[in-house]
Amino acid sequence: MASFVQPSSSPHLASEEDEQKYANVNWEELGFGLIPTDYMYVAKCKQGESFSEGKLVPYGDISISPCSGILNYGQGLFEGLKAYRTEDERIMLFRPNQNGLRMQTGADKLCMTSPSEEQFVKAIKKTVLANKKWVPPPGKGTLYIRPLLIGSGAVLGIASAPEFTFLIYVSPVGIYQQTSSGLNLKVDHQHRRAHSGGTGCVKSCTNYSPVVKKMQEAKALGFSDVLFLDAATGRNIEEVSTCNIFIVKGNVVSTPLTSGTILPGITRKSITELARDLGYQVQERDISVDELLEAEEVFCTGTAVVVQAVETMTFHDKKVKYMMGEETLSTKLHSMLTSIQKGLVEDTKGWMVEIDL
Ligand SMILES: *Cc1c(COP(=O)(O)O)cnc(C)c1O
Repeated sequence: MASFVQPSSSPHLASEEDEQKYANVNWEELGFGLIPTDYMYVAKCKQGESFSEGKLVPYGDISISPCSGILNYGQGLFEGLKAYRTEDERIMLFRPNQNGLRMQTGADKLCMTSPSEEQFVKAIKKTVLANKKWVPPPGKGTLYIRPLLIGSGAVLGIASAPEFTFLIYVSPVGIYQQTSSGLNLKVDHQHRRAHSGGTGCVKSCTNYSPVVKKMQEAKALGFSDVLFLDAATGRNIEEVSTCNIFIVKGNVVSTPLTSGTILPGITRKSITELARDLGYQVQERDISVDELLEAEEVFCTGTAVVVQAVETMTFHDKKVKYMMGEETLSTKLHSMLTSIQKGLVEDTKGWMVEIDL
């Protein structure tokens, strides 16, 4: 039995609607903007102590010290995962423990205490369960889950905050149509997203705002997103602003090595395994821009995009086009992965975690 308080101000929670299976959302027109839901999860922990169980509270604004670590020094991490409703009405998570482990790695890097892997997964389950009517019907979308770990305590001189907050909110999101259009990427030959020894390998809040300007500039020129190069040589590809990249040539699938400057995507890791299952040779290694431009097929992976084909790549004034469509490896991998996530095929890898309803 979940012990949470009933929000008083949400009109969609009128008592006659409490037993409704679905929230009042037009599921046919689900996009990617935030749709506030009923509850969020909040747990706090003092520096030097460990997290105890948090609680569900009505979704809403939070109050925070102007002097907090997150506001002043960007001491914060986020995560991203999804809950899926299957045809037989179960609600499933995809490898949530991996997100919990990644949050721990990030917390260590940013001098924060993180919830344990077990606490993380339990909190995710509780949050999804409390918001279960916001999990879209099968085929209409997924419930995007956004965990945050922030330095919420007040700290004036640069130091780790005396208190940390672990917060989870959720929002229903629509489905990306992977086959309808591919990404048009621009290789950014000036801005470096991450440096060796830095925070590129963790989902630190500080990694993202510097990238927005580059994305905006690229979008103004008609591109979908930017692909960043390594800071050390400026010759090798790293990743796109929020997804990992793969190139295909013949029977070989290659993706940049996670050696500290790229984010170790859970989708990346899963796709690597599925491509091997299909008989492809998968290499994690340095990939030069020259090689990228000579690939047959290129695709991106991430929780938001799942697996998405890259249609064109532009580097300075050179623009190349890649293979697209039903016959591509990315289409196959997209279908394999989403079939597991939607519960359409047996999960032989133990990736799916069911939420007890
Ligand atoms: C979150 C993220 C990814 C994708 O990770 P997934 O675990 O697959 O969602 C890739 N690159 C960056 C920079 C990211 O922030």
